[in-house]
Amino acid sequence: MDTQLLIGGKFVDGAGESLPVLNPATGGTLATIAEATPHQVDAAVTAASRAFEKWSQTTPAERATLLLRLAQRIEDDAAEFARLESLNCGKPLARVSADELPAVADVFRYFAGAARCLSGTAAKEYLAGHTSMIRRDPIGVVAQIAPWNYPLMMAAWKIAPALAAGNTLVLKPSELTPLTTFKLARVCAEIFPEGVVNVVHGRGPIVGQPLISHPKVAMVSITGSVATGQAVLQAAVPTLKRTHLELGGKAPVIVFDDADIDAVVSGLRTFGYYNAGQDCTAACRVYAGAGIYDKLVADLGAAASSLAVGAPENESTELGPVISARQRERVAGFVDRAASVKHMEVVAGGKVVAGAGFFYEPTVIAGALQDDEIVRKEVFGPVISVTRFSDADDAVAWANDSDYGLASSVWTRDVSRAMKVASRLQYGATWINTHFMLATEMPHGGLKQSGYGKDMSMYSLEDYTVVRHVMVNLG
Ligand code: NAD
Repeated sequence: MDTQLLIGGKFVDGAGESLPVLNPATGGTLATIAEATPHQVDAAVTAASRAFEKWSQTTPAERATLLLRLAQRIEDDAAEFARLESLNCGKPLARVSADELPAVADVFRYFAGAARCLSGTAAKEYLAGHTSMIRRDPIGVVAQIAPWNYPLMMAAWKIAPALAAGNTLVLKPSELTPLTTFKLARVCAEIFPEGVVNVVHGRGPIVGQPLISHPKVAMVSITGSVATGQAVLQAAVPTLKRTHLELGGKAPVIVFDDADIDAVVSGLRTFGYYNAGQDCTAACRVYAGAGIYDKLVADLGAAASSLAVGAPENESTELGPVISARQRERVAGFVDRAASVKHMEVVAGGKVVAGAGFFYEPTVIAGALQDDEIVRKEVFGPVISVTRFSDADDAVAWANDSDYGLASSVWTRDVSRAMKVASRLQYGATWINTHFMLATEMPHGGLKQSGYGKDMSMYSLEDYTVVRHVMVNLG
């Protein structure tokens, strides 16, 4: 198992405090890994800064060749990457192998191509005798901070566009889930020049904070909670760093009476509980029309209860544990508080699963009202709330009445209604008759307190560049 930091092309042990890395399915310790010291963070940023001069001058084709090589290496070793990701996150192995690994390799392939397609606008004489051109150039050293829910995928979403644009980087995975990032660091060190990719390990306040505050860091890209996004913004102030924020979510799902109820229930069973609901786009906040509400609640309760909860390595497992004992306590707290309110009913789940590991039952809470905590706060666990509506305008207003603005969906057979509602939703993504489906060519990112960075797509590549004007005096 790889457990070392990558700093300036060298693998070194962290010199800070040792942290246990757990297997969420058993609660056992997989490894004990020392975090970086502030001095090691400084060495990583200095290495990235030194590497920037040469790397930023490579051609798009050169960078594309290396990104394609990385995609291939990930694909060649996909089984081991998937095994480690499943072990460290508690994700069902079959899903990581079938869904995540191909998507990770695809992200590197996409940005390899995108690097060669990034263009400024055409040159022209906007002042007589002078030719202007627009360049999109790399920004410098990017500090990248990843969360624990999709460690390898988040690393890919961050590393690929940053490198494609010609930046160098220091990546800090979540201290809970560093294993696949350490493995990725090994592969990156074989492919990219020294200092282009650096990886440090450790807790947010101890290792993340000196990284995002470092004066030589020109941009900070973070996927995490709103509170951490706010810490990034504050750290950016003294040297006016660029920031790229992908924060929390609380996705509304509006189900009209004419929706295909089997498709809705099957969609919620998948998109509400995927990754044990630890997903910023999870379909967790359902608004159901009065005509479909009762059947939806009954069918969804049965569907949630039918999910196979178990060991991640079992082929048939659909729902693994949540990431930590602390996260499970948090989830249980939300459900217990909801259950204690008279108008709400727990129609499925609602309990911790007995035994080792951090398992929590797939849960449905019916009868929730707009002001209930379960409707307003991000639970980040396998919990779906259902709220009844009678007026479509109420449903849209409630859906938009949120601090978050990442993802949403509308379910109806009426195309015109779907399009009208989609146009009124204040969310970075709206799906119609599905949820949670991603395409590497399409941007992923939010509004409001979900942040404003875009991952994937050309928009992400643009986020990692600066627009420059160069003017030639024609004499
Ligand atoms: P978190 O904010 O606790 O941690 C995220 C990362 O930030 C970790 O690496 C952590 O060590 C680091 N960090 C924490 N404090 C820091 C500080 N002061 N300075 C620098 N780094 C710091 O989030 P989490 O619990 O790991 O992840 C769950 C959150 O991430 C949820 O809110 C979820 O919605 C969000 N998320 C969003 C997206 C998206 O695309 N918008 C995707 C996945 C997860």
